Amino acid sequence: MGKNLTKRSEDYSKWYNELVVKADLAENSGVRGCMVIKPYGFAIWEKMQAALDKMFKETGHENAYFPLFIPKSYLSKEASHVEGFAKECAVVTHYRLKNAEDGSGIIVDPDAKLEEELIVRPTSETIIWDTYRRWIQSYRDLPLLINQWANVVRWEMRTRLFLRTAEFLWQEGHTAHATEAEAIEEAEKMMRVYAEFAEEHMAVPVIQGVKTESERFAGAIETYCIEALMQDGKALQAGTSHFLGQNFAKAFDVKFANKEGKQEHVWATSWGVSTRLVGALIMSHSDDNGLVLPPKLAPIQVVIVPIYKGMEQLDAISEKVAPLVKELRAKGISVKFDNRDTHKPGFKFNEYELKGVPIRLAIGKRDLENGTYEVARRDTLTKEIVPMDDVVAKIEFLLEDIQKNIYQKAHSFREDNITEVDTYEEFKKVLEEKGGFISAHWDGTKETEEKIKEETKATIRCIPLGTENKEGKCMVTGKLSSKRVLFAKAY
Ligand code: AMP
Repeated sequence: MGKNLTKRSEDYSKWYNELVVKADLAENSGVRGCMVIKPYGFAIWEKMQAALDKMFKETGHENAYFPLFIPKSYLSKEASHVEGFAKECAVVTHYRLKNAEDGSGIIVDPDAKLEEELIVRPTSETIIWDTYRRWIQSYRDLPLLINQWANVVRWEMRTRLFLRTAEFLWQEGHTAHATEAEAIEEAEKMMRVYAEFAEEHMAVPVIQGVKTESERFAGAIETYCIEALMQDGKALQAGTSHFLGQNFAKAFDVKFANKEGKQEHVWATSWGVSTRLVGALIMSHSDDNGLVLPPKLAPIQVVIVPIYKGMEQLDAISEKVAPLVKELRAKGISVKFDNRDTHKPGFKFNEYELKGVPIRLAIGKRDLENGTYEVARRDTLTKEIVPMDDVVAKIEFLLEDIQKNIYQKAHSFREDNITEVDTYEEFKKVLEEKGGFISAHWDGTKETEEKIKEETKATIRCIPLGTENKEGKCMVTGKLSSKRVLFAKAY
């Protein structure tokens, strides 16, 4: 009956791939690099969406929807943007198929060539800024705070379920502002919203920072990011928020009349998180027994498994369980009573452990007699017997406690895996033997960053915000550096 998961210590990457499939989250599809998200995986994404959507609305944003296709000429309007995305664009060239004259099957109809080729959106700045030109005339139209939930396509060569797929689901915020300061404030605010979501809901601690020039979004002046550390010591970019300056406003001629009646270009931001977050969630907390889900994002928070012989016992248990289910639901707790008679309790225990359900209640004949439940928590795999009268309070306590506990665990792991180094030798040694984030001085040049990446595969994950500047010497060139930056090998 075992779950037969590869152990994390044996092969972390294999463990991850197996877990995603065995826990019924997603699977590969017939389309290279594109995944099928299964109901249980999609339920986690829906919970993420609901929480994020609420946070976006609370910060003044509204949802809208823009086309999937972008005319090639739009994409080309912002030079660095197109250069960044050109290598991974899917292009629509024709709009019709037909039967081949030689009977060899269906072919693309050469007579149905599009006048202008269309790009399947890799991100929507261009189509949205083309629209904003019509929406923005005066300072009264600003700020414009829009988000869209959508799918995008980036023709990624090396893909992995959730973490990096050719098509992925995400949200993209696109805002327009009258001043530079306001746009910067927005970009920083959304980075903080992402950080709050990651920490409070996903229970994943993140480092907030800015990207170096070479890691920046194509077309951005500044890219803010949140970076998380996975259990194998590799970093994962969990979300990005970009200050785009006036680049897109200039490319799409979006101007507004200021209070003095003068025409000015509009200031922009964009920000996004994707289904990659589901991967981050899995990799942060799960163990060799399967998923460990934070209660706030678990599709099922409490599962109740009856242990019985014969219908009479099941009926007696069901009768006891019914008011409990009702009471928990009234409190907004998602609960499942698994009374399937096609599977044994042991099988069910295994399944819910694999699927990371935070709390499991079991109830058998003896519990009925004693007026108790056996309550098990997924994060610590511990069990206790709880009187029926106390079980609701116990569940409420555990939901909070598990959420806190897995955050704390991930946080201490992260803290234990940030190493300060002062020499390049030390850097290479730590990277090889321990991994994690390495905090080191860097001279601020692209050349040094590139050299380190080539020689060690480590990249600068971010220049952390909120830490004080402390001068030092670049570990590679010895040149002056004003602040330590965080390096890591990343997904
Ligand atoms: P970007 O538009 O490049 O700043 O990316 C926005 C968000 O989508 C970031 O959080 C990325 O980590 C995430 N992301 C980028 N590429 C992929 C991909 N191929 N699959 C899943 N998520 C992605």
